Amino acid sequence: MKNPVDFLKIEYDDLVEKSLDWKMKQIEGASRPLSIVNGKEVIVLCSNNYLGLSTHQKLKKVSINAIKKYGVGAGAVRVISGTMDIHVELEKRLASFKKAEASLTFPTGFSVNSGLIPQLVGENDVIISDELNHGSIIDGVRLTKADRVVYKHNNMEDLTRVINEITKRSPPYRRILIITDGVFSMDGDIAKLDNIAKLGSEIGAIIYVDDAHGEGVLGEGGRGIVNHFHLNHNEIHIEMGTFSKAFGTVGGHISGSKNLVNFAWNKCRTILLSSALPPSVVSSTIAAIDVLEKEPSHVKKLWNNTSYFKKIVRDLGFDTGLSETPIIPIIVGESSKAQLLASKLYDAGIFVVPIVFPMVSRDKARIRIQMNSKLTKEQINNVTTKLESISKELKIL
Ligand SMILES: *Cc1c(COP(=O)(O)O)cnc(C)c1O
Repeated sequence: MKNPVDFLKIEYDDLVEKSLDWKMKQIEGASRPLSIVNGKEVIVLCSNNYLGLSTHQKLKKVSINAIKKYGVGAGAVRVISGTMDIHVELEKRLASFKKAEASLTFPTGFSVNSGLIPQLVGENDVIISDELNHGSIIDGVRLTKADRVVYKHNNMEDLTRVINEITKRSPPYRRILIITDGVFSMDGDIAKLDNIAKLGSEIGAIIYVDDAHGEGVLGEGGRGIVNHFHLNHNEIHIEMGTFSKAFGTVGGHISGSKNLVNFAWNKCRTILLSSALPPSVVSSTIAAIDVLEKEPSHVKKLWNNTSYFKKIVRDLGFDTGLSETPIIPIIVGESSKAQLLASKLYDAGIFVVPIVFPMVSRDKARIRIQMNSKLTKEQINNVTTKLESISKELKIL
């Protein structure tokens, strides 16, 4: 008889043959802008740890203290016996940071999107989604029976067209959910959330933003995209995010009304059936909020580095696409060129990832740079010098 799991090897080998397999690089020690990766010291430009908070002294110290006081695990899911006083404290602090009535933590950001979206909508509802939304949103959408319509990336004319189409339906939809990334992770552009909120409010839609890459980056002191556009949680009903990016820890969260939070923790299976965040993570995340509130220099430095780097590469003639944030694509065209550029940069001591088809269209392959507040001017100059010379060698410039 044929072995029922033969496909595991066949499909993996197929990925390897097509160079579509992930080659995991191993970091020695902490994740820092200058790290030892696969035994070689490199400048890391592909980390979500935008502010370097994962190695901040304060976060490390409270984490160790929390382990001494609470142990290493929460011991249960939130609703059974996994809610400790620090989980409640974190949610209070986060709500105040986000200027929201209430906040709620989840195991991960992925589990917010995959757990909450299917509870918000179902049969006779419709989801309107940006074509470049994150995979966790796509999976959340797939778990619903709601109809779904995709609009062209950040294109308000196309969103208007979609809205006009769906409002013609008879009988009308029960609920309409408009969902978008806040900062798009491949292009680094910012959702036109003010326009989306306005268009949405005209049709009574629920507005949901995934601000994974906007938190700690956009808005006053890194409060995120809702703050950036001076919107509130009557206009943006669900502000979702993760501590796994600029906050330097791990864990998903939502902010909005008390009603939203009560609904979510009673309905989402990714809270009801998945364990609470460990106390060390919870306390270091509280410390991350402290740092953001008391040390505005981190966010400022991130933006200074971002503008400094962007100006140089744009002056050199690189195509940075739609980037408006510390996510900076360098678009080079064919996939093979992006792969070659990334591998030559790595040899030269710079760690970036190539983003190629099918993640982006065939002619828009790129390397993606994620700027970091902890990089020095010298390090950035080193990157731009090498980027220039290797790109000339590869006839990208
Ligand atoms: C990283 C990311 C997530 C997932 O967050 P995790 O907490 O790492 O699971 C969700 N949405 C977007 C846009 C992201 O970039």
